[in-house]
Amino acid sequence: MRRIAVLNQKGGVGKTTTTVNLAAALAMEGHRTMVIDLDPQAHATLHLGLLPGRSGPSLYEVLTQSRSLASVRRQVAPNLHVCGSHIDLAGAELELLGTVGREVILRDQLDADVDKFDYVLMDCPPSLSVLTLNALCAATEVFIPLQAHFLALHGLSKLLETVHLVSKRVNRDLKVGGIILCLYDTGTRHGAEIIEDLEGFFDSRRTKAAPWADAKLFQTRIRRNIRLAECPSFGQSIFQYAPSSRGAEDYASLASEIQGRAPAAIWEVAEDRPAD
Ligand code: ADP
Ligand code: MG
Repeated sequence: MRRIAVLNQKGGVGKTTTTVNLAAALAMEGHRTMVIDLDPQAHATLHLGLLPGRSGPSLYEVLTQSRSLASVRRQVAPNLHVCGSHIDLAGAELELLGTVGREVILRDQLDADVDKFDYVLMDCPPSLSVLTLNALCAATEVFIPLQAHFLALHGLSKLLETVHLVSKRVNRDLKVGGIILCLYDTGTRHGAEIIEDLEGFFDSRRTKAAPWADAKLFQTRIRRNIRLAECPSFGQSIFQYAPSSRGAEDYASLASEIQGRAPAAIWEVAEDRPAD
C-alpha cells in the first residue's frame, strides 16, 4: 500500500485537483484507491460528487469519535473510495487538544482497516495543523504540488523542515516522494526558469539523512487547463468530465510516472499547441 499525503501550506496550488484526479487515474487503471479529505473546506469531497454533511459520517467522526474508516468511506466509482470531510473538522484541533497521541489517530485507523488499498491519497488543508500532522504520520510519501510561479519556492524550506521533523520524531518511514508542478504555462520562458530554480534548490539541499534525499521534480507537468477548473462544480473527475482534455492527459501521465513508468508525455517549454 502506498500512502501519499498531498501537501503544501499554501492554498490554490493544486493539492485538491491533484489528489482527486490522480486518484481517479489510478482507480481507472484498476488500483484500489482511497481519497481521504482532511481539509474542512471539503473541496475534494465535493469534487468527487459527495455533499459534505449529507453523506453520513465523515473523517470528523473518525478523528474525534474513533469511528472506523470502513464505516465512513463511500465508493464513488469503480475502485475509488472517499472518506469525506466536514466543516466540523475545523474544530478538531481544539477538540483534540487533550487527547494523547492525537497526531497518530489516522495512522492507527488506516493500519486497522479491514480492506487493503493499493493507494491512499490524503488531501491536506493549507496549514500545518493537527489535521496535516495526522496525514504526515499516516503517510509514507509526501507529494508537494507547486504552482509554477516565481514565488513557488517561497515557504518550501519551511514545509520541508516540517516534514523532516515529523520523519525524525514520529514517522521514520516518511519521504518526500516528489514535487508536482501545477498550473504550468507552456510556451513561456518563465516556466523554464522556475524548473531551473527548483532543480537548483533541491541539488543544494540533498543529503542522505534528509527526507528529501530522494525527492524529485516529476517530469509530468500539469498544464493550466480550464477543464480542470470546471470539473469540481460537476462533482466529476477530469476523466468523467473531459476525458480528451489536456488535464486528463496530464494526470494520466502523472499516474504512469508515479508507478515508475515513463510519463506519457513531457510537455516542453517550446510547445505551442493551442489551448483547449
Ligand atoms: P489547493 O487544493 O492547493 O487549494 P486547488 O486544487 O483547489 O488548490 O486549485 C486551486 C484552483 O485552481 C481551483 O479553482 C482549481 O480548479 C484550479 N486549478 C487547479 N489546477 C489547475 C490547472 N492545472 N488548470 C486550471 N485550473 C486549475
Ligand atoms: Mg484544496
